[in-house]
Amino acid sequence: MPKIFFIDVTNRDGVQTAHLGVSKLEKTMVNMYLNEMGIFQSEFGFPTTSHETLYLQSNLELAKMGVLQPIRLGGWVRATTEDIETAFRLVPDIRHLNLSISTSDQMISGKFQGKKNRDDIIQMMIDAVEAAKSHRAESIGVNAEDASRTNTDFLVKFALAAKEHGAHRLRYCDTLGYDNPFSIYKTIKTLAENVGIAIEIHCHNDLGMAVANSVAGAKGAIDGGQDAYINVTINGYGERSGNADSLSTALAITKSKDFLEKYQLGKPINLTQAWKIAKFASYAFTVPIPMNQPAVGSNAFAHASGIHADGVLKDPENYELYDFTEVGRGEVELVDTGREICSGQYSGISGFRHIMGRIAVHFKDSEEAREILELVRYANVATQKPLVEDELLFIAKYPQIAKKLLTLRPFEEPTQINVLPPAGVTQR
Ligand SMILES: [Zn+2]
Repeated sequence: MPKIFFIDVTNRDGVQTAHLGVSKLEKTMVNMYLNEMGIFQSEFGFPTTSHETLYLQSNLELAKMGVLQPIRLGGWVRATTEDIETAFRLVPDIRHLNLSISTSDQMISGKFQGKKNRDDIIQMMIDAVEAAKSHRAESIGVNAEDASRTNTDFLVKFALAAKEHGAHRLRYCDTLGYDNPFSIYKTIKTLAENVGIAIEIHCHNDLGMAVANSVAGAKGAIDGGQDAYINVTINGYGERSGNADSLSTALAITKSKDFLEKYQLGKPINLTQAWKIAKFASYAFTVPIPMNQPAVGSNAFAHASGIHADGVLKDPENYELYDFTEVGRGEVELVDTGREICSGQYSGISGFRHIMGRIAVHFKDSEEAREILELVRYANVATQKPLVEDELLFIAKYPQIAKKLLTLRPFEEPTQINVLPPAGVTQR
């Protein structure tokens, strides 16, 4: 039986959100958390964008070191041979790619201004797939941008050509959030049946249906006999009204009426990590979690009315579909309301030792402490907010990786920095 997998695109689509940005350290932390959560793949960035190069390289190094394992790290590029060449020149170790090209008549004429037709689109995609294969890409997805406004027969033709040339997945992009659960189910089932390729479902939330469409699309792929790879983002971040929220989608699959009986996850997701990752992403993106956000909103388990409160006290299942502990909630959060010593870009050694001591990191000598402090200062310049404990621990544990993540060299060809042996930082 085909299964459902999650590809998180927070570090690609999520970071394209207008008015928002995150540092490379924060993107790395997102990958660390996604890995802990058991997400199949992180679309971790843009291999042709030079300010991403050292970040992408260092995350691939973390994968080699066994730290970012078993999560798969995939890059997003346009489906052009130039982009493929650039991607492998800047990030030679990248092995998983999604190649994107517009497929709707609206975009073919609207974006290429009459310079390309449907056959040209297929040819560009084939050339890109062949180029990626020649660089020993291990998995290749081809993205049909604006698939929901694309003629279905053309989509079948496009996907068959991709499959014939060695692509592993078709990404069906509902770029404008135009689909509804009924339309996406029908189209994706048709694609799965007629092409015989695994299908990625990439939904946007312009009509408030991204999660519902993702679930319906996954059902369509499986009913058509193929694996479904749902694209999600943490807290639903993404362009305009965002993408399918990761946690809501996972809950819809595992908790909604009868769904799990036939449609199952191919890789278990540890939902108890959901609270932590939602909170971190909210902090990193500086976007508060809405109070009515499923599972992680402040009101998601709040009961005030007499009948509900009485009912839930007698038996939580009267008014709750799942328990708060299942999504990692329940720990009391103690916030210091007195004196606070936090990290900053002008932190000194004494305050820094105090902060690190509080999270049980001890340095072998003052030189080592000063080195880590210097990295923490730079990290604060990048994030523009006090670092969270996990970020401080990460820097102390992987200082050479942190150094790369914090390095930006505009107008200079980024090159590989060799990783030095880890510093003798001990955490007790
Ligand atoms: Zn998108």
